[in-house]
Amino acid sequence: MTVMVAAHDSGLEAALAAVMPNVRGRVLRDALLADITWFRAGGPAKVLFTPADEADLAVFLAAMPVSVPVFVVGLGSNLLVRDGGYPGVIIRLAKGFSEIAVEPGHRLRAGTAVPDVKVARAAADAGIAGLSFYRGIPGSIGGALRMNAGAHGRETTNVLVEARAVDRSGKVHVLSHADLGFTYRHCAIPADWIFTQATFAGTPGDKAAILKEMDEVAEYREKNQPIRERTGGSTFKNPEGHSAWKLIDAAGCRGLRVGGAKVSEMHCNFLINDQGASGEDIERLGETVRARVLAHCGVTLQWEIIRLGEPLAGRPVGEGLAIK
Ligand SMILES: Cc1cc2nc3c(=O)[nH]c(=O)nc-3n(C[C@H](O)[C@H](O)[C@H](O)COP(=O)(O)OP(=O)(O)OC[C@H]3O[C@@H](n4cnc5c(N)ncnc54)[C@H](O)[C@@H]3O)c2cc1C
Repeated sequence: MTVMVAAHDSGLEAALAAVMPNVRGRVLRDALLADITWFRAGGPAKVLFTPADEADLAVFLAAMPVSVPVFVVGLGSNLLVRDGGYPGVIIRLAKGFSEIAVEPGHRLRAGTAVPDVKVARAAADAGIAGLSFYRGIPGSIGGALRMNAGAHGRETTNVLVEARAVDRSGKVHVLSHADLGFTYRHCAIPADWIFTQATFAGTPGDKAAILKEMDEVAEYREKNQPIRERTGGSTFKNPEGHSAWKLIDAAGCRGLRVGGAKVSEMHCNFLINDQGASGEDIERLGETVRARVLAHCGVTLQWEIIRLGEPLAGRPVGEGLAIK
């Protein structure tokens, strides 16, 4: 998925001036998105807003006209920011969305700023089995809902019971599992709704056994994925009946380099920024891989990583970047 917006005056300044006295959260201008994304690349956001809590978020959104581009970032582990940055408001959830509570019936409620790994740990501590796959996913619960994040044979859809979200007009919604419409690395809730809370259900389990499972997950990751690199995780979705990495490998792209970015030698569905890559280097590398896989076996890979924002003036984006 690509998220781009027009860079005209969207009414942002007037809306900000009007809403500032009414919000408790933090507003930062020209915030470097490279600082809050795993790839450590790309341009700034015009505004970064960190709401104090769900009510604060609702007040802020209600005051922003629909002409103002708004996008929520979690832990930035699935995001590629373009070099021209984001000409609107990036929302980042923090302390007011970081509570975890164990509930009866082997349930666990978490704010969406909570890292997945903390949910896995809290579940283990409470003897709730079924959430240990979150040990290996380096995102937040908000990102897990949006992406239907999953690993080791399980996905968010298998454990999610209910969620709360705020829509673009500031209205709060309580959503059932069915409302979320999960499919592979996708959820059907409108792209501009912001998840604020999630409730998960597991099964009764033994803490030591769950912790052992989590260690196995961590060990597997350590051996098979470049988890200490500047990366965005799996770049492309697995096409029906195929593994993306196998197609990339077969097309000769393992280790392929564009500028400061290269295809990981360890896991070739991962792109890494190992030499100060720009957002364009990384996107060009991804598009080159897509073109080579298509030429080699006729399969069109779909981006799993979300590409956000605009290129620098006059620079191309998307398929036009591919080196043939
Ligand atoms: C080393 C590595 C390993 C990975 N392994 C896996 C894996 O095994 N399985 C897997 O599924 N993914 C994996 N990923 C990808 C990534 O961790 C997941 O997609 C994760 O769920 C993204 O969460 P995030 O908080 O980082 O979201 P971000 O990258 O910040 O954002 C991703 C999307 O989620 C949306 N989003 C974030 N928060 C909210 C919110 N509160 N409300 C609404 N939308 C929101 C954003 O708008 C964006 O569209 C991996 C990534 C890395 C770097």
